[in-house]
Amino acid sequence: MKINLREVEAGETEFNFQVSPEEMDLFSPEVEFLEVVETRVRVTGSEKQHLLDTSIETKAQCRCSRCLEPVILPLRTEFKLLLKSCEPFAKASETASEEEDLVLVADSDTSFDITERVREAIILSLPLKPLCREDCKGLCPHCGVNLNLKTCRCEEQKLDPHWSKLKELM
Ligand SMILES: [Zn+2]
Ligand SMILES: [Zn+2]
Repeated sequence: MKINLREVEAGETEFNFQVSPEEMDLFSPEVEFLEVVETRVRVTGSEKQHLLDTSIETKAQCRCSRCLEPVILPLRTEFKLLLKSCEPFAKASETASEEEDLVLVADSDTSFDITERVREAIILSLPLKPLCREDCKGLCPHCGVNLNLKTCRCEEQKLDPHWSKLKELM
């Protein structure tokens, strides 16, 4: 996914990429990527700097962190990068800031590859604890039944000893 900086005209230039997850080497142990990654990059800039406004869309599937049922995740994320040209042999440390979104490119660079940035943004957009629905009841810790679909009597049985003691007292 290369942005050809020479193609950038005055004003705004848009670049669109459709890349398969395999081609992007997109991999996460618990997630299966289902669709091509659609990336749109709007570039505004001058000779010395370019602002890349990137939005990404794809779809993935993982398992609900509570009940383990499959969950489809529509993924959308965005990031901005500011590419700044620097003089050849300039020391990066002199001009680089701590900000993630500033990238120094050599004056002679005619293109910038955003593949790695897009991959990172997608991985970061994955939810840590995906849920099939907000109020997923999860699995019963005792019998493993999916409590969204069935009810079990484990909780009742757990209460039983108390009831029997109460009964003894009566
Ligand atoms: Zn669930
Ligand atoms: Zn149970």
